Amino acid sequence: MTVIPEIAAFHAELTQWRRDLHAHPETAFEENRTADLVAERLESFGIAVHRGLARTGVVGTLRVGRGNGAIGLRADMDALRIHEKNDFAHRSRHDGKMHACGHDGHTTMLLGAARYLASSRNFDGIVHFIFQPAEEGGGGGRVMVEEGLFAKFPVDAVYGLHNAPRYPVGHFFTRPGPVMAACANFDLAISGRGAHAARPESGVDAVLASAHVVAALQSIVARNVSPFETAVVSTTQIHGGEAYNIIPEDVVIRGNVRAYKTQIMRRIEERIRGLAEGICAGFGARAKLAFQDLYPPLVNHAKETEIACDAAAAVVGADNVDRNGPPRMASEDFSYMLEARPGAFVFLGNGDGEGSCDVHNPNYDFNDQILPIGASFFARLIEINLPKRR
Ligand SMILES: [Zn+2]
Ligand SMILES: [Zn+2]
Repeated sequence: MTVIPEIAAFHAELTQWRRDLHAHPETAFEENRTADLVAERLESFGIAVHRGLARTGVVGTLRVGRGNGAIGLRADMDALRIHEKNDFAHRSRHDGKMHACGHDGHTTMLLGAARYLASSRNFDGIVHFIFQPAEEGGGGGRVMVEEGLFAKFPVDAVYGLHNAPRYPVGHFFTRPGPVMAACANFDLAISGRGAHAARPESGVDAVLASAHVVAALQSIVARNVSPFETAVVSTTQIHGGEAYNIIPEDVVIRGNVRAYKTQIMRRIEERIRGLAEGICAGFGARAKLAFQDLYPPLVNHAKETEIACDAAAAVVGADNVDRNGPPRMASEDFSYMLEARPGAFVFLGNGDGEGSCDVHNPNYDFNDQILPIGASFFARLIEINLPKRR
């Protein structure tokens, strides 16, 4: 493993920064303290800072030499609404909020790369360091793009990185094409006619209709999606009724859908509506679907995927880079940046040892061991692709 020695030299400081961010998690569009810290550090490295895109977004611009090649490097800054169960010293100071996805680490790795590149100046061209808010559901990436991120800071390509629990430290993986799924939420409002539990014949049982709908939704992936495609339909909430002896009038079913292709997402939406309306009509009830698309699929561009893998290989060796790695059913709003510009998203193992805990879990923690690896990846990406003129 050849982590950049200058970056390895400030590993302890990166660890401090990361733990400080972990202790002070901030959620979507409220990353004020985090954005202040990011901006202050970038300025202290001599990097020009622009603030205010998507409210708390920060973009640092570093130009070296006269080259016009420009690359964007992106990290996310937001935390989740999860109550942390860890009891180490840097546990969350804010009840109900937690860096449970490692965005504290992503922000720190990108700051590490910025610090190194600003002092080594071992490239020729322009780097935009993009720190975005609200990845976890708020679509901060989309908002930044809509507010003119790439018009104000034009780039030839943009790259991002996510830690991956249960994969070894120093192992990178990604793949060209779709690598993360599109995501949507749905609400089904089922209405019947309320009745006394002892006199069901006088009502229309929304609970019974809902039970049939929930079961039938599991037929969509099995019967309406090709076995060569990938999709998930998960029912995650059912709400209805308040008393033992009353058949409720209304039930709400909610859930989440993932797919790799937009046309499959449309097919699933159409089937949820068809099944729910048809089944409910059979029971004399009514169903109304509200379907909300969240993130589009994250699709890596082929050439930039190679570029990113080459940079990873320069840090951890070709044997530790899986260029045809597993796709993931999770979603990411970096997808909006890749819709706007060529680029790639890669994963870096967060450790596979005992207790390796998945993201979005109250016991998760970012692994500080990988800070210099991710920072070196970003730095090498720039040095290789914006080479210094000799
Ligand atoms: Zn997450
Ligand atoms: Zn994340």
